[in-house]
Amino acid sequence: MSTLHFSALGPEASGSPFWNRMTETMSRERLDALHLKRLQALVHYAYENTVFYRRKFDACGLKPEDIRTLEDFKRKVPLTDKSEFIGLQQERPPYGDTQALPLDLVSHHAETSGTTGVPLAIPYSMADTVRYGESWVYGFWALGIRPSDTMYFAFNWGNFAGFWSAYWGARRLGCRIISGGGQDTKGHIQAIMRMRPTVLLSTPTFALRMAAVAQEMGVDLANGPIKFTFHAGEPGPTALPGMRERIESSWGAKSGELLGIAEIDAMAPGCPIGNGVHVNEMNVFSWSMDPQTREEVDEGATGENIVTSYANTAQPLLNYRTHDIVRRRSSCPCGRSWTKFEGSVLGRTDFMVTVRGTNVYQTAVENILSEVPGVSMHYELVLSHEDGNDTMTVRFEPDPSLPSDRHSQVAREAGERIHQALHVRLNVVPVEPGSLPRFDLKTRRIVDQRPKELRRALDR
Ligand SMILES: [Zn+2]
Repeated sequence: MSTLHFSALGPEASGSPFWNRMTETMSRERLDALHLKRLQALVHYAYENTVFYRRKFDACGLKPEDIRTLEDFKRKVPLTDKSEFIGLQQERPPYGDTQALPLDLVSHHAETSGTTGVPLAIPYSMADTVRYGESWVYGFWALGIRPSDTMYFAFNWGNFAGFWSAYWGARRLGCRIISGGGQDTKGHIQAIMRMRPTVLLSTPTFALRMAAVAQEMGVDLANGPIKFTFHAGEPGPTALPGMRERIESSWGAKSGELLGIAEIDAMAPGCPIGNGVHVNEMNVFSWSMDPQTREEVDEGATGENIVTSYANTAQPLLNYRTHDIVRRRSSCPCGRSWTKFEGSVLGRTDFMVTVRGTNVYQTAVENILSEVPGVSMHYELVLSHEDGNDTMTVRFEPDPSLPSDRHSQVAREAGERIHQALHVRLNVVPVEPGSLPRFDLKTRRIVDQRPKELRRALDR
């Protein structure tokens, strides 16, 4: 049967590894030239259309025309942070002085999950939603998902932007979409077996939760209809190889991931090789700095990811602090020229504690735990103060299937791996399965039991 095909950009032939070879393999020189052009336009736009940036630029005597190079942009445009936006939005809801477009041009409103208190409101124009949707398509395509697939969203549609933009992406790709909605886990599994979608969209922990419930129900997911699982919202299969293996084996599927934060939504679609995600350089300009000195760090070194978005025209984000720690690479065997974050997000500047002179990031410990057989995804890090030193105890739940006489052996192994990777000795203690609190997305799992006057270090 012949079909009409009106797509303007991509897709390439379905056998191509690229959604858009031209953009994904553009030389660094051309990418940087494009960034400069876009950043200069964005600086003018933000200065002319938002009270917030005009005030910020004026305060340091910066004029939009002062940005002549990428270096100028990185050094001269002041850093911005979530707390500034939240403060202004509270003064004058919904978007305060950060708003660049009138409300009738805002087509979607999202909010951060608000685990740290007041949520940040994020407006999108129609064009912004299209750009973010396309960002997902790059990731879908790289994993092998095609328009002939059927995508099942196991997601309770709320204000969190992530899966909305995945939906915009699924529409852009042109596949069939099934919304699972807010039913219980059992209901999702029955729906999947009944409607036979080929792609599962969910948070990674929910994919594991569904696998556990399916096992109890006697449903064999590994031989079920799902060929791909795709994740966002929390550290997933790219950041945590142990998790990838668990998801892939229980679903009998190939697993992929997109890195976003609520504010910069679909920032970095995955790489088919795994072990990291590629920054979508059509949507964002990013660089890394040392969070203490604020100096740019070199390729290969870890630093805080600072992002400027071309897809937040309703509320521009320039040199925005993500507080995510990443390691940049400029090349990848998959052939994409877009910067790669090796291992995805390695940690959070605000989820960091210093133990015996070593910076310990929550995510770094989580990455290691995910690779230790017998350790479940449920853990917490307890910070205490003994004999003048901060000490950290990792309390974890062993896998329910692990016999209890092996718990302490697994704890020893986890302690050894942490020591090897982070060069710091932490106490690792198994606790009763089911006894730890269940955490939300990207929550800080550091429990601070130090005296009150020592707790400042954990605050942003
Ligand atoms: Zn790659």
